[in-house]
Amino acid sequence: MTSSPRQPTVAVAGGGLAGLAAGCALAEAGLRVTLFEKRPFLGGRASSYEHPGTGEVIDNCQHVLFRCCTNLVEFYERIGVQDRIRWYDQMTFIEPGGRASVMHTSPLPAPLHTVPSFLRFPFLNAADKLAIARALLPLTLTTQRDTGQPFAHWLEHYGQTPRAIERFWKPILVSALSEDLDRISIPYAAQVVRESMKSPAARHMGVPTIPLTDLYNAAGDYIRARGGELHLRSPVSTFQLEAAKAHLKFTAPTVLDPKFINKTSEREEAFDYLLLALPFDGLERMLPETPESAHLRELLSHFEGSPITGIHLWFDRQISDLDHAVLLDRTVQWMFHKSRLQPSRVLTGDGVKIERSYIELVVSSSKSLIEKSRADIVDLALGEVHEFFPAARDAKLIKSTVIKEVHATYSPRPGIDAYRPPAATLWPRVFLAGDWTATGWPATMEGAVRSGYLAAEALTYAAGVKDSKFLVPDLPATGLMRLFNMRLFK
Ligand SMILES: Cc1cc2nc3c(=O)[nH]c(=O)nc-3n(C[C@H](O)[C@H](O)[C@H](O)COP(=O)(O)OP(=O)(O)OC[C@H]3O[C@@H](n4cnc5c(N)ncnc54)[C@H](O)[C@@H]3O)c2cc1C
Repeated sequence: MTSSPRQPTVAVAGGGLAGLAAGCALAEAGLRVTLFEKRPFLGGRASSYEHPGTGEVIDNCQHVLFRCCTNLVEFYERIGVQDRIRWYDQMTFIEPGGRASVMHTSPLPAPLHTVPSFLRFPFLNAADKLAIARALLPLTLTTQRDTGQPFAHWLEHYGQTPRAIERFWKPILVSALSEDLDRISIPYAAQVVRESMKSPAARHMGVPTIPLTDLYNAAGDYIRARGGELHLRSPVSTFQLEAAKAHLKFTAPTVLDPKFINKTSEREEAFDYLLLALPFDGLERMLPETPESAHLRELLSHFEGSPITGIHLWFDRQISDLDHAVLLDRTVQWMFHKSRLQPSRVLTGDGVKIERSYIELVVSSSKSLIEKSRADIVDLALGEVHEFFPAARDAKLIKSTVIKEVHATYSPRPGIDAYRPPAATLWPRVFLAGDWTATGWPATMEGAVRSGYLAAEALTYAAGVKDSKFLVPDLPATGLMRLFNMRLFK
């Protein structure tokens, strides 16, 4: 698409999923998009880069999605990377000692499709399973409201056994929401359960087969192909508004040669609209001193971050033939076998495949690790790997690194939804996106893409572009869940 003088111009601040989704949608709708990203690469909290300590290109952390993430799946199709996602319909749970149990889908209708595997799980006894079933019924069949209490209280009320909490609720919810059960709001927990139960496909897990930034560079190409521009290493510092224009202040590299990147200059450019797709703390720092900012600052003051830690280990041999697994009862919650998930990582020497394992271990809500040194975290993780994967005891650790994302996601605490702002702001030319805005979804790639599409819809409406709908419908419920979806059991 070529630019014409009548095309409205829009500056998108932030090259994470929210900014990229919004930028793609707006470029498709015929607006001239200029995207500003402070880092040298796209993807934001879902990105990859060459890690200086190991010399490897690593993801900041393994990212997964589920089929119920319909807007993210549509975004992948839009930018042409859908075949870079490998889908899994099985999930393996491993106990310390190495016993593995697999959750399969059966031919039973939703929400009963995983019941046969669940009943066979050896790591839960009959009392645990009964308690879990008692809690799943209201979570699946009724609407759960925010009572101000955390989900841990709700579980207590529904008589959950300590093992049901430790081996069922924690692995599912702490990973999905990156927060402890005593800090998760009840509707967020209920949403995770309902979304995963609505059809057998909903819980199919997707894993990128290429590094994250390679995946999301396709969104940058999509914007450029529609006449847009991307400015990397270009942090936005603030903005000012006039009746018909928004002035963006940013810093940009003055020399294009990456060896001279520290030469920058302060610049200012005027646009018809601004779309701020920044994390909540980043937005707070760039708000101008105007009365309209006060309300937004008040909302932002209620957000807190929750950490996620990724531990990357390279072994001299294969330590498991699994692509990924949920690990029970220890600090580490997930193992992702990156050398199996990303085929380009298979090492070859003289045309011969070298069978090594590169794994990433993920700890969500990793508050207990933040103060620990990286060496201590690697020691702890290695000890746990030896417990779960006995083959690793004979393997040599070649290299390792630890990535602590201290502000990985916003904490889905009771009451937080009241503070999540919509896309439209008190400034008619300024719109918000980001996983923390009011999307109805927790801090996920799906939530970020939804926020980008919602902001693009609000902006195109303001710009008078007709019929711009970007959000796609949720995954339809199947089986018995169709009845529950009709809210017969409110
Ligand atoms: C460790 C970790 C693991 C996760 N795992 C999963 C997972 O498995 N599945 C899942 O769905 N989600 C996961 N998430 C959450 C997911 O990554 C985020 O919800 C999503 O990527 C947020 O996207 P965003 O665009 O809203 O924000 P961001 O990705 O934070 O994007 C904001 C962008 O703005 C840029 N920026 C900041 N300030 C400025 C400025 N002044 N000027 C210009 N640019 C600026 C930032 O550099 C960034 O690129 C995980 C997150 C983390 C951190």
